[in-house]
Amino acid sequence: MRVVVVGAGLAGLAAVCRLREQGCDVILVERSRLLGGKATSFAVDGIEVDNGQHVHLGCCTEYLDFVDRLGMAGSLWIQDRFEVTVLQRSSPPSRLRATRRLPARLCLLPSFARYRGLPVAAKVQVARALRRVHDSPRPNETFAAWLVRHGQGPAAVRGFWELFVVPALNARLDEVGAGDALFVVRTAFAADPAAARVGWSRVPLARIAEAAAARAGSVRLRTSVVSLVDDGMEVRGVRCSDGEEIDADAVVLAVPPARLGAILGDAPGYGVRGLESFRSRAIVDVHLWFDTVDAGLRFAGLLDSPVQWVFEKRPGYLCCSLSAADDLVGRPEAELVDLCRSELIAMWPQLAAVRLVRGAVTRDPDATFVPAPGLRRPGSLTTHDNLRIAGAWTSTGWPATMESAVRSGRAAAIGLGSATGSARRALEAVHG
Ligand SMILES: Cc1cc2nc3c(=O)[nH]c(=O)nc-3n(C[C@H](O)[C@H](O)[C@H](O)COP(=O)(O)OP(=O)(O)OC[C@H]3O[C@@H](n4cnc5c(N)ncnc54)[C@H](O)[C@@H]3O)c2cc1C
Repeated sequence: MRVVVVGAGLAGLAAVCRLREQGCDVILVERSRLLGGKATSFAVDGIEVDNGQHVHLGCCTEYLDFVDRLGMAGSLWIQDRFEVTVLQRSSPPSRLRATRRLPARLCLLPSFARYRGLPVAAKVQVARALRRVHDSPRPNETFAAWLVRHGQGPAAVRGFWELFVVPALNARLDEVGAGDALFVVRTAFAADPAAARVGWSRVPLARIAEAAAARAGSVRLRTSVVSLVDDGMEVRGVRCSDGEEIDADAVVLAVPPARLGAILGDAPGYGVRGLESFRSRAIVDVHLWFDTVDAGLRFAGLLDSPVQWVFEKRPGYLCCSLSAADDLVGRPEAELVDLCRSELIAMWPQLAAVRLVRGAVTRDPDATFVPAPGLRRPGSLTTHDNLRIAGAWTSTGWPATMESAVRSGRAAAIGLGSATGSARRALEAVHG
């Protein structure tokens, strides 16, 4: 079976790998000159940087398996146990770390008791709320409302919930669904002590994408798909912006919602609804190269700062990550570099004495979708057996992450090749 996969982000790449494992002949078509979509890397003034710091957690099992099957598990670094440093103004750094030999629900307790980011009353509030994370939230409840309902004051919100949930969902707490936020908290902190371990790629993200794309029989970069070739019964291939048609027995569209809508034309006619409901938020990353810094931090969270996390990728190279950064994404590069440098100095005064050699900014105004309350995310099936959709934004249950992208791509590939009508029957069972 010949399958065209449209979009070389992680969703499309995961589909490519799975389809190859299923014996399909795969053509990968990508609009950009780069592989990896939102998880890629490129040269900035001659230095290759990731388009933004990408973190995976121990619970990202499908992403870790995807990289492992590419033979690149050694390219990923991950902590032995969850441990983060938290920086704040006018206070020494403090640490949250999982204690070995304690179950997941208790393993943070000893360091939480010593944590300086919260006054005692706020710690009690957080501990109480953590006991309720398995309860179902109210329909259409935002996470901000859930926090109020569970007695969380401003100190608890700023010193704990915002630190973890805003970067994980890349949105403000008053615009995300409580169910999505609680999924993150449960999955990372309540199931397995190893789940919250933090890691990232030691190699530029583009290397992982290249290894996955190499599994496809052919790769067409700088090729934009504009529509399907559809004879009314079946999808026969895709049409590119230069008019070329690529024939296929099946098609996987692994592109963002708005682009999917444009390619499908009549998305509801294909059983894909609600694409217009997706909104996105920006992420800004500020890359700073200092003369000499070897703080031994690896990474740290910052309280009360537009910079949520800083990563010491190599001695001297710090990457500042600014989530839900819609108000900053359009600012000039020099302003953002100054902002991040001064935020770091405010919390880490030794840095003031170190010369900043250079700074650069990468930004994505549509980095991830907002998991708004009540948002309905389509699954991978369509009304056509041989047409599937994928993307971190589809209904994987995960927020817009690499894990979600890989899960969606793998799900889209399931059963392609069998042409049994099972996809249509499953969809009809859902939609009547
Ligand atoms: C700055 C930043 C930081 C992030 N940090 C993290 C993190 O720390 N941890 C984490 O897990 N996730 C993170 N994410 C999210 C993660 O990168 C994404 O959720 C995931 O990579 C999305 O993969 P995807 O394949 O679904 O979509 P995309 O990566 O968007 O891939 C879609 C692809 O389709 C292509 N395309 C679109 N239209 C067409 C067309 N008409 N024809 C052909 N090709 C087309 C696009 O060019 C693109 O390559 C971050 C994202 C950003 C932007």
